[in-house]
Amino acid sequence: MRHPRQRWLRHTARSGQRARARTDGHSWGTEPASVLMNASVWRELWRTVGSRPAETGGILLGPRGKSVITEYYFDAQSNCSAATYSPDHGTINGLFAERWTPRGLELKGAVHSHPSHCPRLSREDLEYVARILGVNPRLDRFFAPVILAGRFWMRPFLVHREGLRVDEVVLRIRDDD
Ligand SMILES: [Zn+2]
Repeated sequence: MRHPRQRWLRHTARSGQRARARTDGHSWGTEPASVLMNASVWRELWRTVGSRPAETGGILLGPRGKSVITEYYFDAQSNCSAATYSPDHGTINGLFAERWTPRGLELKGAVHSHPSHCPRLSREDLEYVARILGVNPRLDRFFAPVILAGRFWMRPFLVHREGLRVDEVVLRIRDDD
């Protein structure tokens, strides 16, 4: 994934909201590591990225300060090739400004698909996550699941700021509110 501009990625919690998040007992760092996702997002992932050739993708959103993914945006206009997924920065920037930030949503991660013989995050993927973390100093972790195109298989990777450590976590699906 190549990203000349990451403005759209600067949409994480502000300091006060972050402070609340650290005391509510729902940190993504609890053991066993898991990520919570709304069922509607899960279904939409498979209807879009999961049912198309690699590499397509989208971004994952949730309420500021809460470790749950409640919204998903399929990046239908992304610049796709056999080797890369590049978000459509212009559209995504506009959506943050006009739709998501006013509703209290922030960036939680990005999902993309790989050919089925590439079940791990690539070096380019990790460089991309590092850039996101670089422009979002308050984001400690970034959820970067990889869907293996055509195999209905997802690997739920969580990338930690500390050392860019990658964990494969438990993805828990919950009913929508
Ligand atoms: Zn990749």
